[in-house]
Amino acid sequence: MQVKKFGVIGSGQMGNGIAQVAAASGLEVVMSDISSEFTAKGVANIEKNLNWAVGKDKISADERDAILGRITTTTELADMESVDFVVEAAVEREDLKFKIFQDLDLICPDHVILSTNTSSIPIGRIASQTKRPEKVIGMHFMNPVPVMKLVEVIKGLATSPETFDLTWSLCEKFGKTPAEANDFPGFIANRILLPMINEAVFCLYQNVGKPEDIDTVMKLGMNHPMGPLALADLIGLDTCLAIMETLYDGFKDSKYRPCPLLRKYVEAGWLGRKTGKGFYDYAK
Ligand code: NAD
Repeated sequence: MQVKKFGVIGSGQMGNGIAQVAAASGLEVVMSDISSEFTAKGVANIEKNLNWAVGKDKISADERDAILGRITTTTELADMESVDFVVEAAVEREDLKFKIFQDLDLICPDHVILSTNTSSIPIGRIASQTKRPEKVIGMHFMNPVPVMKLVEVIKGLATSPETFDLTWSLCEKFGKTPAEANDFPGFIANRILLPMINEAVFCLYQNVGKPEDIDTVMKLGMNHPMGPLALADLIGLDTCLAIMETLYDGFKDSKYRPCPLLRKYVEAGWLGRKTGKGFYDYAK
């Protein structure tokens, strides 16, 4: 099956990045969200990224215009009726993703693959909301999508080899390097990354160090390009908490308990860069 038209659910930081790389690879893209304010924000971010690339002579102004011209937006999930492949990148809430997949299953023709960019919700649980579990798969992009090379491709128990192969080849078409993972909580990337971030939050909670010092240790001592607290602010503290909850629920192992300070920040609405405040202040 050839994919010509690509659907993206959610125009947030991941959704608009996925829409950008899909459109840059030559696909027609339909990007949705719950309000036109959000889709407009998503398109503005794509435009900003592409303008930066033009300024750096990475693409021409004509290429930028062609990429933008391939992206349309909608607030109606029903418009996914005409796409050949969907990636869902709405907020990390199980009830919300379940509803989206139930609806997509009714809206999209039978041959359409329904993928999810979930950071941690089991693919099998999402697949069981549909009548096509063999066509449900995890397509887990990294943040920021246009920059990061990796896509984790996660097979649920029922995912078919055809679904896997097509998803893998789409990753390559987008210029990404896929890695294969099986369906266990957190998959590979977040199973390893999030406990490290959570431990960094515990270091702050127990006053072992200030945010700058915790991040400096990991950057200069471990050669990480970003410190764990700055990375948590980039990912979004709500997403970090949701992933820790999934690891904790999935394994029932206390080593995955979310740090109380992480929960406190999320309750306060300090979600990181997207709200202007997290472990660091982005108001300026
Ligand atoms: P975000 O908050 O930036 O964007 C989510 C968007 O989904 C919002 O614009 C919201 O309005 C929209 N939305 C909510 N309900 C919707 C619905 N019913 N239909 C369509 N859109 C809807 O979040 P994000 O960081 O882009 O995360 C999106 C997904 O990607 C999550 O599942 C997250 O776990 C996953 N993910 C995030 C990262 C990261 O670093 N942030 C990395 C990999 C995967």
